[in-house]
Amino acid sequence: MTIEGDRMDGSRNQLYRGLPSVNEVLQSERVELLLRLHPRSAVVEAVRTALDGVRQEIASGRIAQGEIPERMEALPMEIEEILQQNQRPSLRSVINATGVLLHTNLGRAPLSPKAGERVEKIACGYSNLELNLESGERGKRDEHVEGLLLALVAEPTGLRETHRAIVVNNCAAATYLALRALAAGREVLVSRGELVEIGGGFRIPEILEESGAVLREVGTTNRTRAADYEAALSPATAMILRVHQSNFSMEGFVERPALGELVNLGRRANIPVFEDHGTGLIQPLEGYGIVGEMTMSQSLAAGCDLVAASGDKLLGGPQCGILAGSRKLVDRIRAHPLFRALRVDKMTYAALEATLLEYRSGRAANIPLFRMLAAGAEEIASRCRRVAESLADCGLLAEVVETESKLGGGTSPRTRVRSYAVALHHPGHGADEVLRGLRRLDPPVIGRIDEDRVLLDLRTVDPDCDAELMAALRSLSPGDGDL
Ligand SMILES: *Cc1c(COP(=O)(O)O)cnc(C)c1O
Repeated sequence: MTIEGDRMDGSRNQLYRGLPSVNEVLQSERVELLLRLHPRSAVVEAVRTALDGVRQEIASGRIAQGEIPERMEALPMEIEEILQQNQRPSLRSVINATGVLLHTNLGRAPLSPKAGERVEKIACGYSNLELNLESGERGKRDEHVEGLLLALVAEPTGLRETHRAIVVNNCAAATYLALRALAAGREVLVSRGELVEIGGGFRIPEILEESGAVLREVGTTNRTRAADYEAALSPATAMILRVHQSNFSMEGFVERPALGELVNLGRRANIPVFEDHGTGLIQPLEGYGIVGEMTMSQSLAAGCDLVAASGDKLLGGPQCGILAGSRKLVDRIRAHPLFRALRVDKMTYAALEATLLEYRSGRAANIPLFRMLAAGAEEIASRCRRVAESLADCGLLAEVVETESKLGGGTSPRTRVRSYAVALHHPGHGADEVLRGLRRLDPPVIGRIDEDRVLLDLRTVDPDCDAELMAALRSLSPGDGDL
């Protein structure tokens, strides 16, 4: 080590020695005040964190001898900030300005206000979750939504009497449970074009293997015909699985049998057809200019014996998995021990029932997903202009640009909805730094980068949050050096 290095170490050691101990800090007047408001262990932890921070500053040479007293002056305030930060929940509300309506990283579908109220009411008190109020006897939790679900997905097609519906943790669980209960040890026919990964590690071949069912691939990646399924039928066949191509699309030399063709084949061979439907769509989306997404009732009407769907995609409800299908199949699934292991909480039932009631009462427009889809591009543009104008004097360059929103959540990958965004540019910082700065705001604002600027698509921002968004954006002050 050089003499220069020795000298530097010596002066650093001196600086370290000049620091107070944790106990000394705890006894200082301002920190004693904090001890009255917070548990001692939390204050001790905050003091340690703050002192560690100072030590790191010394180690990296960012602090000189004369600056220590001033640094110590600021310590109690820092400790208070650390205490506050440590109490802040990790799961926080954010402003989704990505323009992706069902953003899996941002919690997919936001609930309707009614659903939110019902969750709060049911979660914070007792309920008749498993009590039949008529007889006073033990009830079943799934009965609270079964009738409503069937009314929405099976009544238009007259299947209400012959069908049943149950709810589990998510669509992945629903698919797994159905395969396990109905096809373990036997063959399941799946087109090679549908051996897909849905995202977050949900891969059809792996789920099948885990369930104990045997995958029997049919057709090719781009073309599969009904005859391919037929040729693969054998006494070992338990079912035909149809997987919704939710997060990708194929074009060119492609072929896929209509659902009805598979149903006909299944009927002839006395084999059930199970559709991993995914989206959980209840009402057609044509009114929003979106074509090609089948509703659950269309799948059942086409003769599917069983469908599995997510609650928090195009249904617009809480995370859950719905299995709707013929009584015979659903009863077998219900009786499987795993059904108990995958059951959902009262909060989920409360949110799902309230969401289904919005459809039932003709008020699906209250569901945020549909409100956001219905918002006109011009209306969004004028909100964007207001936000951009509010940033006129704060160092961020903001302009209004046309853009396209997406459905997201592994649904309708080709769908684009015309929208507008506030494009942010900062003279001293790159787009990814601005994006990071936005994530550090309170509430965090999540945008996306397009051509080296940050776009905030207001289609996915609740208009009631515009004021909060403007206030947060204005606090992204350019003078700080670090955004
Ligand atoms: C989204 C999706 C799933 C997984 O749904 P989760 O509710 O997230 O478990 C499964 N299958 C299809 C076809 C999907 O679109």
